[in-house]
Amino acid sequence: MEGLKENVLLSKYSTFRIGGPAKYLIEVSDPKELERAIEKALELDLRFLVIGGGSNILFSSKGYDGMVIVFNLGNKFLIDDNLIEVNASMPLNYLVNKLDSYTGLEWAVGIPGTLAGAINGNAGAFGGEMSDLIKKVKALEVKDRKIIERDFSKEDCNFGYRNSIFKNNPNLIITSAILELKKGNTEEIKDKIRNNLSKRILKQPKGFSIGSIFKNGDNFSAGELIEKAGLKGMQIGGAKISEDHANFIINLGDATSDDVLALIKIIKKAVEEKFSIKLEEEIKIF
Ligand SMILES: Cc1cc2nc3c(=O)[nH]c(=O)nc-3n(C[C@H](O)[C@H](O)[C@H](O)COP(=O)(O)OP(=O)(O)OC[C@H]3O[C@@H](n4cnc5c(N)ncnc54)[C@H](O)[C@@H]3O)c2cc1C
Repeated sequence: MEGLKENVLLSKYSTFRIGGPAKYLIEVSDPKELERAIEKALELDLRFLVIGGGSNILFSSKGYDGMVIVFNLGNKFLIDDNLIEVNASMPLNYLVNKLDSYTGLEWAVGIPGTLAGAINGNAGAFGGEMSDLIKKVKALEVKDRKIIERDFSKEDCNFGYRNSIFKNNPNLIITSAILELKKGNTEEIKDKIRNNLSKRILKQPKGFSIGSIFKNGDNFSAGELIEKAGLKGMQIGGAKISEDHANFIINLGDATSDDVLALIKIIKKAVEEKFSIKLEEEIKIF
């Protein structure tokens, strides 16, 4: 199949810069190509994984024994009054800056990755989250080795805190979404975007990462618990718990997935022993 590559290092496809070789990898630039890639994976009896910006994924340094499909449909969107249809692979940050006459998306400035990745994990910041904006999600479902097109209403998406129906089902592949936004004052919107970006730049650790490792709880911040457990700055191999934000792990350059997983294990054990709280991963591990 054209474009299908073998033994491709996944580190290049994750903002963590960690990941061994994928048995196969293909970059697809339209929905038909996406379908053909899935059909090929089914034909080869391989598991497959569709990714966007790789900013929420820890890939194993041992690699992925299947087909990784990188979605890159281009930055297309269609505006119909306050409804905006956006391609799954649209970079979220690009969208925030393009839609500066609409209010409701300012919280997302500076979040790396694509619209689909953000819907998958119901990404959020500064009190806003993807589910606030979703009118409809279009997806492909792979079921009984067949590919069917499906529309999901907001209710069908089962959104929760950093969760959705898509998060634990790799057979649901988002192809586009219709967002509902309100028209607003561009100067005020740009101000809000600038403010949120400044706050993010101040708070967010520098270096290779995949954002917050653990979910917060109703009445706790995972980062604060990790800090109170005395783990800030702990390092295993090339992976280090950030000095700036304890819910971030930074790849200092040569970290392996085992280094990161070892830190995750230590954090979970220490937080449970000290605070009787079981931390749950926000990131996806493959
Ligand atoms: C510096 C930094 C800051 C961050 N800040 C935030 C923040 O403030 N708030 C926040 O919520 N997150 C944050 N993140 C995490 C991450 O950026 C978001 O979760 C982002 O929305 C993930 O998008 P992505 O395209 O990179 O997804 P990926 O990492 O590529 O994928 C994430 C999951 O989505 C799935 N997926 C990808 N594309 C599709 C598709 N088309 N259909 C179905 N499933 C798909 C993947 O299989 C995977 O399971 C941050 C990350 C970094 C590195």
